[in-house]
Amino acid sequence: IFCIVAMFGYTSSAQVSSDHNSRSEKKIDSILKLMTLEEKIGQMTMYNGSWDLTGPPGTVSAKDKFEKLKNGKIGAMLNVTSAEATREAQKAVMKHTRLKIPLVFGYDVIHGYKTIFPIPLGESASWDLELMEKTASIAAKEASAAGIHWTFAPMVDVSRDARWGRVMEGAGEDPYFNSVVGVARIKGFQGDDLSSAHTIAACAKHFAGYGFAEAGKDYNSVDVGVYELHNSILPPFKAAAEANVATFMNAFNEIDGIPATAHKYLQREVLKDGWNWEGVMVSDWGSIGEMIAHGYARDKTHAGELAIKAGSDMDMESSAYEIGLKSLIEENKVSMALVDDAVKRVLRLKMKLGLFEDPYKYANPDREKAEIYSESHQEIARDAARKSIVLLKNDTLQTDKSPLLPLKPDQKIAVLGDLADDKDTPLGNWRARAERKSAISLLEGIKNAVDPENITFARGPQFVIDNLEEGKRQFLWPLKFNKNDTTGTAEALEVAKNSDVVIITMGENAYQTGEGRSQVDIQINKVQKEFLKKIRKVNPNTVLVLMNGRPLNLSWESENIPAILETWHLGSQAGNAIADVLLGKYNPSGKLPVSFPRSVGQEPLFYNQKNTGRPYSRNTVTFSGYTDSEKSALYPFGFGLSYTSFKYDNLKLSDTTMTKNGKIVASVEVTNTGKKDGEEVVQLYIRDLIGSLTRPVRELKGFKKILLKTGETKTVSFEITKNQLEFYTANKIWDVEPGNFRIGIGNDSRTKLGAKFQVLE
Ligand code: BGC
Repeated sequence: IFCIVAMFGYTSSAQVSSDHNSRSEKKIDSILKLMTLEEKIGQMTMYNGSWDLTGPPGTVSAKDKFEKLKNGKIGAMLNVTSAEATREAQKAVMKHTRLKIPLVFGYDVIHGYKTIFPIPLGESASWDLELMEKTASIAAKEASAAGIHWTFAPMVDVSRDARWGRVMEGAGEDPYFNSVVGVARIKGFQGDDLSSAHTIAACAKHFAGYGFAEAGKDYNSVDVGVYELHNSILPPFKAAAEANVATFMNAFNEIDGIPATAHKYLQREVLKDGWNWEGVMVSDWGSIGEMIAHGYARDKTHAGELAIKAGSDMDMESSAYEIGLKSLIEENKVSMALVDDAVKRVLRLKMKLGLFEDPYKYANPDREKAEIYSESHQEIARDAARKSIVLLKNDTLQTDKSPLLPLKPDQKIAVLGDLADDKDTPLGNWRARAERKSAISLLEGIKNAVDPENITFARGPQFVIDNLEEGKRQFLWPLKFNKNDTTGTAEALEVAKNSDVVIITMGENAYQTGEGRSQVDIQINKVQKEFLKKIRKVNPNTVLVLMNGRPLNLSWESENIPAILETWHLGSQAGNAIADVLLGKYNPSGKLPVSFPRSVGQEPLFYNQKNTGRPYSRNTVTFSGYTDSEKSALYPFGFGLSYTSFKYDNLKLSDTTMTKNGKIVASVEVTNTGKKDGEEVVQLYIRDLIGSLTRPVRELKGFKKILLKTGETKTVSFEITKNQLEFYTANKIWDVEPGNFRIGIGNDSRTKLGAKFQVLE
């Protein structure tokens, strides 16, 4: 038996030099030469590895999978349940297979592993890229110690429809914002050195268009033209490829009749050839096989043929390559060159991860004990959580004319609502291996922060029935909503009446968003709303604390409730972080990465729309809007209040003209005019006035988060270059078109566009 491991004498912590690369490539070629076709197909096959789960009907049993492992029929696994299980599977491969090519273990480490950070949409509201890089690096540290090499994150799908449950997994509606957030997360997961046992491979998903599902219905068809595809959907993927993301995942959806998994233009022409990207394209779960149901493939063999030709390198859970690829090669329907290219990509990933040097180095019980859920990770989780909170409204108290928040010392506080003592919901969906109910609840957080004597808790009615049986998969848990519960309302009303201020929690259960969790109604549900209305009547000093994974329709709440705090699903330290903000220990600085609508009927709703829908008409009910609603967002993209106030002055441009490859500097003075120190997210918006294609009314093209002491002024400047001005033009190239542009710098997407400059021919 030939031992591949013995071939690798080089030291770890690989310097990414061209020398090294060419050495690695030679090694990959030499391994490839030794491989049989069956072994190659094995490397292109990924199986679900949670031994204890029987999985959906037709799933291969644990025993059979073990046999397949020993026979080199599996190159990658996902969902292996523990470090020990990864070792056991790896051992089977190292002991029994001819070439001893190590397995790679993948897992959905989306917003933390055991230490849970805010859901990605929530964390994006921090607009703090360094922070997002840091939390991803901690997730990588914890996951790698438990034997995981590869996360299926970040999701960089631009998502503009609040009905879509997976809005929670990304950075919202803007292509530029998704690009920079995605890159920060990729850097965090992968670090500078992928071969380190503390970093893991990232995966940009879902390629492409998954977030544009018609009617916000998960997995649904997508219908966009090539220009919209390049300008609105692909930018974050391009940025991910440029940031050397190790892998991509394709998608369940079709685009204009072609399933993403079999999309040759996207996977080969754009990504692999166009962007020269050398990583692994993994299919989404069963997405190759699903092309049969789509009416696009006759059977699994045909589906496999379509997928490999289009550029899908690894088959996750369809067994299509395993079933059909051999005969496709033998019958000359698929060339060996395509298979070799896919296998080389997989081997390259394993080599970059350092698995050929030591296939066991990631699963490390000592590190697992020392690092997972450590105190320092909890501190960062708390910081990330409070930075993700968005203050949507903060009216004055009726008695002393000061804003309702922050709370004042010695106030008697009523803490109400089903989510207030919920230790599970703040973990959100896709919470990897977090212990169930391991979050600090809001009630615990407040009790940690103020004299518990001043706090009275009353839960009130239950809006979701917790019917999850221990040990059941939470991901597939069918949610059961209460329709008319009023339990505990009388008690809560009494508590509210006898308190100075009411903190009431409302929103969504952890599993109301995420995969397969689309909704047609995006209001707070009826049981909660009725409760809220009653409470508001007995105590006007009501602060609504929202926990949710998608933009909600808050029309009623914004009119009737004086203070509203958006806290998303904030992770392990949720309660402490919310208390920090409620009590003013942290001045809220979060800004919405998505528009909040006035009605679900506005969806998809996004700020960077075209001028072709006559948005220039008056912003009330007009013929270009809706006859029964204003057309603007209730809370727009980029919006968020602070306990202090900021003033913007003196927008200046260093020049009024520039060449295509030149630059202009735009600057503005920002002053903290309030009574508290605070952070502000200064946002740059640009409009290209005339283009070879119609252009959006404005686009975010830069932002900076700054800290200003009370009374302090800072000049914030942005360089404007080709990067901010180019787009995928009518000539089907990325280019800057000469002409006039307008810019605005301010604190949300409604910022007035003032200064004008020209890009010369
Ligand atoms: C999801 C992917 C995920 C995969 C593996 C699929 O259903 O769409 O985002 O990575 O499952 O869990």
